[in-house]
Amino acid sequence: MTQATHLLIVGPPGAGKGTQAGKIAERYGVPAISTGDIFRENIKNQTPLGKQVAAIIERGELVPDEITNAIVADRIALDDAQQGFLLDGYPRTVDQVHALDKTLEPAGGQLDAVVLLEADTEEVVQRLLKRAVEQGRADDTEEVIRHRQNVYAAETAPLIELFKERGILVAVDGLGTIDEVAERIAAALKEKLGR
Ligand code: AMP
Repeated sequence: MTQATHLLIVGPPGAGKGTQAGKIAERYGVPAISTGDIFRENIKNQTPLGKQVAAIIERGELVPDEITNAIVADRIALDDAQQGFLLDGYPRTVDQVHALDKTLEPAGGQLDAVVLLEADTEEVVQRLLKRAVEQGRADDTEEVIRHRQNVYAAETAPLIELFKERGILVAVDGLGTIDEVAERIAAALKEKLGR
């Protein structure tokens, strides 16, 4: 049996995780799974889940762990994730890390590497403000954008230390063109995983 590849990309909102996630996933032949995308899709389709989480997401708060953990457990149980996956935007809290550990445990799996996309807070805030204007996303106010950064600093940044202790953290400078950053990630991951 070939070895499954379990990857995660973390970094502040606006660092370009989604774009890089697609490239990494393609390289390793695994699906990119974004909890943010799953929530947005449900909001768009006005599903019960979408209705439950819309206001929370609009405020830039985190969806409760029980809801998010259940969604990810269901998603990674699907056939296409059996050879691995790249998670984007999950886990985001310590509780979610433990829930993911438990989900992967029965099959003897674990996270193999965590790509940390490093970016300066002011830089990403300016990027997101520009995008809000360009794409007419009136709900992306500066206040909400800054709040999301604060939530990241308080809830998610502490996980970085945990991944470092596990020896699976791969920190990459997120500043540069999409291709430059993609190459940096590819090289760093190859070194960490040996594949
Ligand atoms: P993202 O596109 O990853 O920035 O996610 C957009 C929004 O979805 C976040 O601001 C949160 O409200 C919610 N969300 C996404 N992933 C998670 C998660 N792992 N835990 C809780 N909330 C999440």
